[in-house]
Amino acid sequence: MSLDIVAELEYIEKVKKINEGKNLKYLILTMGCQLNENDSEKISGMIENMGYTKTENIEESDLVVFNTCCVRENAEDRLFGKLGEVKKIKEKRGTIIAIGGCMMQEKHIVEKLKQSYSFFDIVFGTHTLHKFPKDLYTKLFENKRIEDVLDIDGEIIEGLPITRNDNIKASVTIMNGCNNFCTYCIVPYVRGRERSRNPEDVLNEVRELAKKGYKEITLLGQNVNSYLKSGKVDFDCKVKSFADLLREVNKIEGIERIRFISPHPKDFTDDVIESIRDCDKVCKIIHLPLQSGSTQVLKLMNRRYTKEQYLNLVEKMKKMIPEVVFSTDIIVGFPGETDEDFEDTLDVVRKVHFEQVFMFIYSRRVGTPGDRMENQVPEEIKHARFDKLKELVESQISENNQKYVGTVQKVLVEGTSKTNEELLTGRTDSNKVVNFVGGKDLIGNVVKLKIVSEHMWYLKGEIVE
Ligand code: SF4
Repeated sequence: MSLDIVAELEYIEKVKKINEGKNLKYLILTMGCQLNENDSEKISGMIENMGYTKTENIEESDLVVFNTCCVRENAEDRLFGKLGEVKKIKEKRGTIIAIGGCMMQEKHIVEKLKQSYSFFDIVFGTHTLHKFPKDLYTKLFENKRIEDVLDIDGEIIEGLPITRNDNIKASVTIMNGCNNFCTYCIVPYVRGRERSRNPEDVLNEVRELAKKGYKEITLLGQNVNSYLKSGKVDFDCKVKSFADLLREVNKIEGIERIRFISPHPKDFTDDVIESIRDCDKVCKIIHLPLQSGSTQVLKLMNRRYTKEQYLNLVEKMKKMIPEVVFSTDIIVGFPGETDEDFEDTLDVVRKVHFEQVFMFIYSRRVGTPGDRMENQVPEEIKHARFDKLKELVESQISENNQKYVGTVQKVLVEGTSKTNEELLTGRTDSNKVVNFVGGKDLIGNVVKLKIVSEHMWYLKGEIVE
């Protein structure tokens, strides 16, 4: 156990003592990606060990934590809007307001908070998340405002308590940071350079989750297929690459499905494709972020692959893993994108037939090269292109869905449907939502379902006897 974690565990005990018998409640508002969701589970774990219980009602919260994201511009508006609301609650019941995550690594945001929202109590960054118990203790004991943001890459701290949001599926972060510097992206500036976790720590975490009954694991990182390729890599373990890690996780008894997010096409080496092919638990849907189908735009984005290389990679994977399908991320309206460039994006979408596409309109992020580029695309053109892409994607999803009708799919049952308590819901290996009639005892199990009908965002199934 590192000295840092020992100190933090002591602070957890100290805050717990201060809070004894007070019946305090907390709420976390999480913005952004699955990595942030996983960070929030760690923050929850620390907070619950300090004597707070979770609430969904902001009005009764004694501690509100914002775990922020700065990938999209509207997240800032959401944060500032919500802070106004929490200010009134703070005035009524003395609620402590803590703001953490990626946005706090941006100096201009912290400055804005100090000038216009100075009622906050704690600001912490991505490299100081594990110090939250100390920050909270200092706030409670000395009653002073805390700013705890570091510019240097933090070490990976193991052994933090964690409160999971789900009891069937769990995310396991395998690395932090990114070295790629795509020109639209703020992540390398706020999350630092790539640091991989010790493979033994990752495997132990998955083993523990399997013992607790978790069935599906998602391995997380900004660039998972460069795991153990930079930073400290000399761990005393036979796992030397992401491909090795997949094979070892695949051996863990009790785990039925393995997913990972996000890989980078340029790092998709053959050994990783072979591991996906050989490991029966690794889902055969690969998230392969395209971002643009135009070689010229890809160059401007610093993605380090061309349209042809991307398509060749898809073809290679299809040859090596016949049942493979793909999901992707696409940005429309990057500076300099012409109608022809956009047509290239549509062309790739038509050729690959993605199962799922996460579409984004380019949004300028202060501090990135993309923000400084002169030929920004006008908003109305960006929106028109987005609508055209959406139309194509939806028509392809509908075509893909039809292929499922009449097939038998293995579905991991996740719970009851959010819109109809009478139905159970789960996902196929390819991440399609399937609703069906069945007993609640099936929750947490993999069942075989015959797909009887398709709808845009879900399929309907029947249990195969
Ligand atoms: S790979 Fe590119 S898009 Fe992904 S986190 Fe790194 S810089 Fe951002």
